Amino acid sequence: MDEKLNDLYRDILMDHYKYPRGNKNLDNFDLENEGYNPACGDDIHLKIRLDGGKIDDISVDCIGCAISVASGSMLADIVRGKSLEEVIKIAKAVKAMLKGEKLSEDINLGDLEALKGVSKFPVRIKCALLSWTTIIDALEARQAGQKAEISRTE
Ligand code: ZN
Repeated sequence: MDEKLNDLYRDILMDHYKYPRGNKNLDNFDLENEGYNPACGDDIHLKIRLDGGKIDDISVDCIGCAISVASGSMLADIVRGKSLEEVIKIAKAVKAMLKGEKLSEDINLGDLEALKGVSKFPVRIKCALLSWTTIIDALEARQAGQKAEISRTE
C-alpha cells in the first residue's frame, strides 16, 4: 500500500474515532445486540430500528480502543437505508477483508477499505471485527425469528 493511501486511511479512521456516527440515543428500536472482544476489552451495544425490511436507524455504543470505535462508526454510517440481506452481505465482506480472505463477490466497500490496513496487525483484527460480527448475529437471529445471543469475536 502506498504511503499516501495509508495516510488517507488513517485520517478516515481517526475521524470516525473522534466523531463516532452511531453515538446517540435511540429510544424506539426493534432489535439490539451486544458484543464483546475479550482479547482487548472492547464492548459494543447496537440498537436497530427497522422500517419494513430495511434499517431505518442505528445507535452504536462502543466502549473500546480506537479501532473498535472507528469500525463501529463506519458500520453506523453504511447500514442506514439498507435491507437486512444487504447489510449481512456487506458485513461478511468486511470480515473476509479483515481476515485477508479473497472477496467472493464483486462488492464495493468504499470507505470501509480503510479498515484493510488493520489486517496487517493480527492483534487488532478482532477489534475491527467486533461491530460486524455483532450486527451479523443480530440480523441473522432476527431472520430466524430468534433473539440474538451476546456476540464474541472469534
Ligand atoms: Zn480493541
